[in-house]
Amino acid sequence: MKRSLISRILVPFATVLKHAAYKPVTHKYPYERIEGYPRTRGRIVLKMEECIGCGACGYICPDEAILMKPVEGKTLTYPAIDFLKCSFCGLCVEICPRDALYMQDIVELSSDEYKDLTYYPEKMTEPEDLKELLPELKYVLKPVVDKDGMRYIKRRV
Ligand code: SF4
Ligand code: SF4
Repeated sequence: MKRSLISRILVPFATVLKHAAYKPVTHKYPYERIEGYPRTRGRIVLKMEECIGCGACGYICPDEAILMKPVEGKTLTYPAIDFLKCSFCGLCVEICPRDALYMQDIVELSSDEYKDLTYYPEKMTEPEDLKELLPELKYVLKPVVDKDGMRYIKRRV
């Protein structure tokens, strides 16, 4: 059915107005960041005091991202991870017999220098600090789905 000229002008105009009234679902990263989910596979952290240097994590790694490295003053070797190779599969965490590895919900790992993304055992033991990675971060957003649809609960950091 052929639409009148007025209808062809008014309908798109009404559509634009309708969508202009919606709240945006996007967020202003890096000023706002969606809260990490509990099982997010992110930065791997080493609990050195639990590690027995068995090397199982390096053995299982499908990306050959783990090398066992010595640490000054210790007799064992400990895992170092090249995060440019790591695909965050989590196998190293799962296979560890001592639960010496865990994953943070932080995925913001980047650097201008390749070498900075190889974390030696000492650095592996320091959990990532979100505020250091994202100094502009002001709010963490928790997604909530209820009868009105999806919205975020905003918490200042
Ligand atoms: S998460 Fe997977 S790819 Fe990354 S270091 Fe562990 S085993 Fe290797
Ligand atoms: S598997 Fe666990 S205990 Fe074994 S070297 Fe890796 S982190 Fe250490």
